[in-house]
Amino acid sequence: MSLSNTPFERLRRKFDDSGLECGQCGNRETNGGWRVTTTGSRVHYQFVCPACRAVETKEMRLHSNR
Ligand SMILES: [Zn+2]
Repeated sequence: MSLSNTPFERLRRKFDDSGLECGQCGNRETNGGWRVTTTGSRVHYQFVCPACRAVETKEMRLHSNR
């Protein structure tokens, strides 16, 4: 399965662009490190802060574009 031109990748780029600030220690991690899992129409993003090991999660719903 290719993720090169999918909503996943676009969302990922959006996160990469804005960066992620750790809610626990304020560390800004821009090197990625998102783990993306999907369950049908939802996408879960999980990020583990390398500094304090806090776990950030986001959930997105995919909109079918038709
Ligand atoms: Zn942190």
